[in-house]
Amino acid sequence: MSLSSVTASIITIGDELLIGQTVDTNSAFIAQELNKIGVWVKRRVAVGDVYDDIWQALDEEGKQADIVIITGGLGPTADDITKPLLCTYFGGKLVVNEKVLEHVKYLFEVIFRRTGPMLERNLKQAEVPDNCIVLHNKRGTAPGMWFSPPTPQQGEAPLNPPQGGFRGAGPIFISLPGVPHEMKGLMIDEVIPRLLKEFIMPAIVHRTAFTAGQGESMLAELLKDFEPTLPAHIKLAYLPNYGMVKLRLTSQGDTKEEVEKELTPYFEKLQELVKEFLVTNEDVGLEVVIGNLLKAKGKTMGTAESCTGGYIAHLITSIPGSSAYYKGSVIGYAYEVKENVLGVKHETLETAGAVSAETVKQMVQGALTVLDVDYALAVSGIMGPDGGTAEKPVGTVWMAVGNKEKVDTLKLNLRFDRQRNISMTAGYALNFLRKFILADS
Ligand code: AMP
Ligand code: MG
Repeated sequence: MSLSSVTASIITIGDELLIGQTVDTNSAFIAQELNKIGVWVKRRVAVGDVYDDIWQALDEEGKQADIVIITGGLGPTADDITKPLLCTYFGGKLVVNEKVLEHVKYLFEVIFRRTGPMLERNLKQAEVPDNCIVLHNKRGTAPGMWFSPPTPQQGEAPLNPPQGGFRGAGPIFISLPGVPHEMKGLMIDEVIPRLLKEFIMPAIVHRTAFTAGQGESMLAELLKDFEPTLPAHIKLAYLPNYGMVKLRLTSQGDTKEEVEKELTPYFEKLQELVKEFLVTNEDVGLEVVIGNLLKAKGKTMGTAESCTGGYIAHLITSIPGSSAYYKGSVIGYAYEVKENVLGVKHETLETAGAVSAETVKQMVQGALTVLDVDYALAVSGIMGPDGGTAEKPVGTVWMAVGNKEKVDTLKLNLRFDRQRNISMTAGYALNFLRKFILADS
C-alpha cells in the first residue's frame, strides 16, 4: 500500500539484528514518527555489518524513496563501518568536526567522568564526512549525518528524478546511531524539524478501534458489508494480538482537517458495528484505559500476581501518572507468600490447589486489605512448559477481580508457550478488571 507522495525507506545495520540477538525497535519508532508528519514508509531493510551489503542497500533503497534513514554501525569499534562507507559512497573525506570533538570531550570528562587521556578510537567519533550536515547528538558521541542530493549543474540531468513533494532532486540519506535512545533524540530534535522544512507533506490519518473478546475472522464477518463501502484510499487493517484485535482505518489527503472530516463517519460506523467488543477508540493499551476509568472514578487498585510474576504491575506502572490510582502488588509466587502475606487459607491450597477459583478469590480479598485498595486483581496459573497435570494442564489459569462487596472469577485454558501464556493472562486479566470497574457504577 503506497499512500503518501513523500516516501521513506529504513535501513537498519548490525549483525545482531540478523541473528535475532537484538530486536529491531528502531524501525518501528522511525516509521511512527515519519507517519505522524505524513511520510509513508515504503520499505524496511536490515543488513549486517558487511561493506558490500550496506553499499547495495544504499543503492537499492536510494532508488525507492525520497528519504532513506539508516541506523546503526556508528560505534567506535572495528565492527561498525557505516561512517567511512557513507563518506566514500557520497564522495567525501573524513575531517575532524570541532563542535563534535568538543562535545565528545565534554561527554568523557564531565558526564562519564573518565580519567586519563581519551582513546584514539573515541576521538575518531569527531570525524565526519566533509559533505554532510552534522546532526548534533546530545546523548552520545556518534553524531547523525544528513546527506542531501547534489544540486545538478546546468544542463545536467538530476541523479534521480524528483518525486512527490520534494523540492530537490533525488533522495536524502540520513544516518543515525543504533543506540535506541540516541536515535530517538536525533529523530525528534533534528530529523523531523528538518524534514518538515524540506518537503511539502500530505496528511496521513489513522483511527484505531480497539476490541477484545472476539477473533479477527468473526469481526470481519461483522464488517463484511461495511468494507466494500470504503473508498479505495481508505484502508482497513486488522491487527490481532493476544485476545484483542485493533481495527485501523488509514486515509490521506492534503490537510489533516479534510482527511479527518471524510474519515470520521466511516470510523463511527465501524465502532457502531463492533460496539459489543469495543474497548476504546484510541490506539492505547488496556492499562491506559483502566487508568482513565480509575482516575475518572477517583478509585484505586492493586494486584496479587502469581503466574505473571509482576508483569501486570509492570504494564500498569509503565504508564506515567499511574501512582494516582495504582498502589502496588504482592507477587505471591510461593504457597507461603499466598498464605502469609495474602491470607489464603492453608486448607484451600491443600484441597483446591494454588490454581483454583477459591485461591484467586482469597488472593483478591487479601490484596484488598493488605494494599488498602478499592479494586484488586489476582492471577494464578500454570505457565509451562512443566507443572501441568491431567486435571490442570499447562495453560490453566484462574483469575479474580473484585472489591469489598463482590469478587468474580474466570478460568482460561491457554496453551504451551510460557511467554505467550504470561502475556495473554495479563491481557485477559486487565480486560476482566476493566469490565468489572465498568459494571460497578
Ligand atoms: P551501533 O550504532 O551499531 O554501535 O549500535 C549500538 C547498539 O544499538 C547495539 O548494541 C544494538 O544492540 C543497538 N541497536 C542497533 N540497531 C538497533 C535497532 N535497529 N533496534 C534496536 N536496537 C538497535
Ligand atoms: Mg553495530
